Amino acid sequence: MPRYADIVLPLAQPAYTFAVPDGLSLAEGQAVAVQFGPRRFYTGIVWRIHDRRPDFKTVKPVSRILYDVPLLSAPMRALWEWIASYYMCTVGEVMRVALPSLMKPSGDTEEEFSEEEFRPRTESYVALAPALCDEERFHELCERIERRAPKQYETLLELASAGDGTRIATGEVARRLLRADRSVLHTLERKGWITVAERERTVECGGSAFRLPELTSHQQQALSALRAAYAEGRSTALLQGITGSGKTEIYIHLIAEVLRSGGDVLLLVPEIALTAQLIERMERIFGSRVTAYHSKLTNRRRTETYLRLSRSEGGEFVVGVRSSIFLPLKHLQLVIVDEEHDASYKQTEPAPRYHARDCAVVMARLFGGRTLLGSATPSLESWLNARSGKYGYAILSERYGAGRLPAVLVSDTLRAARRGERHAHFNKLLLDRIGETLARGEQVMLFQNRRGFSPYVACTECGWTARCPQCNVTLTYHKNGSKLVCHYCGHTEPVPAKCPSCRVTDVVPVGFGTEKIEEEIARVFPEARVARLDRDSVTSERAFNAIIADFAERRTDILVGTQMITKGFDFGGVSLVGILNADNLLNNPDFRASERAFQLMMQVAGRAGRRADGGEVGIQTSEPGHPVIRQVAGGDYEAMACEQLAERESFFYPPYARLTSLTLRHRDPMLLRRAAAELASGLRTRFGRRLLGPMTPPVDRIRGEYLLSLLLKIESGASFARARELLGAELTRFGALADFKSVTVVVNVDPQ
Ligand code: ADP
Ligand code: ZN
Ligand code: ZN
Repeated sequence: MPRYADIVLPLAQPAYTFAVPDGLSLAEGQAVAVQFGPRRFYTGIVWRIHDRRPDFKTVKPVSRILYDVPLLSAPMRALWEWIASYYMCTVGEVMRVALPSLMKPSGDTEEEFSEEEFRPRTESYVALAPALCDEERFHELCERIERRAPKQYETLLELASAGDGTRIATGEVARRLLRADRSVLHTLERKGWITVAERERTVECGGSAFRLPELTSHQQQALSALRAAYAEGRSTALLQGITGSGKTEIYIHLIAEVLRSGGDVLLLVPEIALTAQLIERMERIFGSRVTAYHSKLTNRRRTETYLRLSRSEGGEFVVGVRSSIFLPLKHLQLVIVDEEHDASYKQTEPAPRYHARDCAVVMARLFGGRTLLGSATPSLESWLNARSGKYGYAILSERYGAGRLPAVLVSDTLRAARRGERHAHFNKLLLDRIGETLARGEQVMLFQNRRGFSPYVACTECGWTARCPQCNVTLTYHKNGSKLVCHYCGHTEPVPAKCPSCRVTDVVPVGFGTEKIEEEIARVFPEARVARLDRDSVTSERAFNAIIADFAERRTDILVGTQMITKGFDFGGVSLVGILNADNLLNNPDFRASERAFQLMMQVAGRAGRRADGGEVGIQTSEPGHPVIRQVAGGDYEAMACEQLAERESFFYPPYARLTSLTLRHRDPMLLRRAAAELASGLRTRFGRRLLGPMTPPVDRIRGEYLLSLLLKIESGASFARARELLGAELTRFGALADFKSVTVVVNVDPQ
């Protein structure tokens, strides 16, 4: 009889051993309450059961089991372990992000584990009594009470037609869905005409007779190619299809296939608020099988979802953001990662700093299932894997129906300025096109990468700029409220009336953001209705939905926005999209800058002419000859990919090497410099020239702490597992040095 259990606690510590009291039948993957430290209780996960007594004096017992089902299946535990080992953190840290917060309470007394709290809500379900399910007897009764007890009569009818409205339903109906009040139901129950039962709230699964869209022959071909790749034993495939080509239709066919066979499907999307349209579309086909999981859900709802899935018998379909990889789907057969190139799949803070797409690939293998990556502009990592035959690969190169790709107009800002054809932040060319589009009664989207009114304010006399006292960045000017905001720490201050440095002149806004564009365009086209979509205008989900609905229903003509407008929208009325400043996309100091600029511009372009014939995209840039601009104009993904890959290969960047960044933080810059030098020299003895740094990151002070970084580049031929081992050993050595105890080191594997 095994006597001990290793329990994972939601801490940055290894699993800890507890004793299993007699009579408690524990299973791996179960949640338990345990006492850890003198008076502290935690939720833990049973990781391993064994009979080796640990070598500390008193082994505390497991207090009790939480929940009636094990929370983690074996493949799920394997996934947590993989994440901890690959991203260099503890399994406890994985637990911290993987379980909804209500499910891992801690407290000073055991009583704080009131299990009632976690039980999913139950509700009353009402059904016709079996005797009344006979058509004839039912009508007989109805006739009798129609006049005498109209309320009871109506309730019985409502219950009987709860199914498809014609036959007498024999299923249960949630009481909240009935119009009748409690007293009527109570009377009916007393008379034995209905039954009422308390039950856990469930999702009605309905049948599996999904009505699927008929695929075009191109789509059919792509689907067959994917199936063939899976049949040949590849567990991952890439579907590369331009926007509007029908990638989602192909997803739908694969999803239906899995659901019909009783398996679970996970569809990952970058940001749920932006994909409300996708969820609606899935619900139209899969009904209440669709479970949405995102950051806007309450803690209660997340816990309910988590527990419901733990108990599910399969056939679940979750549409969710990156953290939904942790939901307890037990029969996972298919993971689809939509917009797989999207950077938001990577979690940067806190640990585990995981990439949900990469986890999805591993996860499907652990479950014996499959992964489909979908994108119009795949990450170079996935594209290379597809091209080399490691992944299955299918392409959709045409838009569905009459839809054509938009024409791209590149407009030179410097030339426009020289000719006096630049008004505010618009070239005449773009303004003319906007005017024509509005005149035709069509809509315009304008993309600007920065929010706020202007990036910053400066003094025209002495060049002073407002900077954050906590972080080494300029403050962003927001006209709304006339304030300066730090986009790193949230520090806010009013705009100074006079330059605080020379006291000679006023400070003025420099550069431009979405707020400024909104104001300018409204001045040029006073009759146009202009709205703005960015993090400042979207204060809530309601505000977001309102802005989107106004635009979709054409109550606004021009929508100005940041990245937010680029994702997933399908507005039929948009025939012109303007990219106001491509320069700041191209000139990012990052090895992925060109790839990202291309992806972003293509995605923005994809919003034009979704249904209308063609559509136009206007790109304003001072470098019209830049290779990426030409690749966007030609819609030439392959040219971009080949050029970038050649560069990456010669400079050892992903996908030809794996990067791990280490960031050291401390308030004292001198101590920090010594610590970084020490860690760098330790790593250099192990890794040689594969280690770069210490270097100063672009923002070298945040919230009062100084930052220095190191970068480890491991070429793809070498063993990454071995490299992680060496890195782990060095970090342990460094962590034990008394001088540097107070220095924080953040390890980020595969930084984006
Ligand atoms: P993507 O996901 O590649 O951007 P979608 O799947 O959203 O493309 O398709 C674009 C539009 O074309 C959608 O409105 C979709 O309903 C429609 N569409 C695509 N394929 C079909 C099809 N086979 N039958 C009917 N409509 C389709
Ligand atoms: Zn000044
Ligand atoms: Zn700051």
